[in-house]
Amino acid sequence: MEILHVSAECYPMAKAGGLGDVVGALPKYQNKAGHIAKVVMPMYRTKFLYQNNWSVDFKGIASMDGKFFEYTIIKEATNKLGYDLYLVDIPGLLDREKVYGYDDDTERFVAFQIAVLSWVNSWEHLLNVIHCHDHHTGLIPFMVKYSYAFARLAQVPTIFTIHNAQYQGWMGWDKQQYIPAWDSWKAGELEWEKSINPLASAVKCAWKVTTVSNSYLEELRQEANGLEKLFEYEKGKTSGILNGIDVEVWNPKTDEFLIKKYTPRTIKKGKQANKEFLCQKFNLAPELPLFIFIGRLVGEKAADILPEAFSKALQVYNGAINILVLGSGDISIEHQLNQLKNSFVGNYNVVIGYDETLSHIMYAGADYLLMPSRVEPCGLNQMYAMQYGTVPMVRNTGGLKDTVSDIGNFEGWGITYNQASVDDVVHAIYRAIDLYNDKIHFNWVRNKIMAIDNSWENAINQYINLYQSVQL
Ligand code: ADP
Repeated sequence: MEILHVSAECYPMAKAGGLGDVVGALPKYQNKAGHIAKVVMPMYRTKFLYQNNWSVDFKGIASMDGKFFEYTIIKEATNKLGYDLYLVDIPGLLDREKVYGYDDDTERFVAFQIAVLSWVNSWEHLLNVIHCHDHHTGLIPFMVKYSYAFARLAQVPTIFTIHNAQYQGWMGWDKQQYIPAWDSWKAGELEWEKSINPLASAVKCAWKVTTVSNSYLEELRQEANGLEKLFEYEKGKTSGILNGIDVEVWNPKTDEFLIKKYTPRTIKKGKQANKEFLCQKFNLAPELPLFIFIGRLVGEKAADILPEAFSKALQVYNGAINILVLGSGDISIEHQLNQLKNSFVGNYNVVIGYDETLSHIMYAGADYLLMPSRVEPCGLNQMYAMQYGTVPMVRNTGGLKDTVSDIGNFEGWGITYNQASVDDVVHAIYRAIDLYNDKIHFNWVRNKIMAIDNSWENAINQYINLYQSVQL
């Protein structure tokens, strides 16, 4: 089968979060399974762009809002990623350093989607599937169905995967003419609560819709940033497929970012070396259990409760724990986390920013990973942590619920709690200290989590079955 993934992110070209990891890995494993999977994304000006070789694949002209624009499609020349990666360049719109956060993001991503379809429309053959990811590609299922210019593509099945339903790409109706001339009887297929809602439109128009875990899909019917009724109504075409992790990138045995690589057999020494590096660099005590948090400092991740929870835990368990944080986001959370440094010198530190290398060393060197998320569609961090023998401490929600079982359960391997609250996090830390001191149980848990198969294999089969179910 020939599949084209359309996404705003794809690691290692550009990643802002889990979406990048998933789109960077899924096609690789689909190709390994004998299919032809490709990725197309915007040509941001990232390091990966400048450090790799590209060939021009196509040059075209498309139009948005009645104005013509030129676009160029370039292709990674060596196939080093294990799939064909295509980038769309639109001068003035996509030639930026960052993925998101510009005032004209709407124009940028609508133009990107138009260029992708105009390129695909120029091919002699038709694809088996166009697989769109998140709201930045959410207008594609509509355009394929109802924009006259793309009528030839109407028989190509579109699959839409929701990695995060909080962000929906809302646009006012004043921007309706951005979308290439479409059947005006179908306005309802674009709309949700009086504005154009690309995420809702994709849920309505795609042939099948998936979310990145089963529990998240169930939760969306209760709480979906305004789209609850839609998810209930479209129940029949939605399913949950749990993400895998790229075990070629996230593997303590081969990870080039680590200070020392290790296997389940050599975990003690390997972890210790990575931990000592972190403790030295961040002035922490290597003999104490190390708790980490890595992620966006936003409400979804419950990062707002961290300053108080950490402050309380560091006071109550004074001298018994270390905490290290890596993240960026809400300025006031960043500030509060920075402030804590003064009160708990030697047991606490924080790095504000995005650092891929450091994140790998932290997964390896830590004993525990905290994820009190309010919303977690799948969550990759807990799976990376487990792969590196780091015990996950997660709130029972979304994908976290589907991947972590509490140590209180028969053969459970993580620490779970129900509320994204200071008390629940502090109590979870108390249980973690207890477990850390019970070396036999702790070592059993470490071995158990390193043996869990979080690879893509299962997910690949489920996606292929889904693609097959929509072939005409
Ligand atoms: P999200 O909701 O942010 O997509 P996920 O758990 O799905 O959450 O994926 C987060 C990904 O981003 C993981 O690979 C994680 O290691 C990475 N990440 C998040 N914040 C940072 C950071 N500040 N530095 C390095 N990596 C980060």
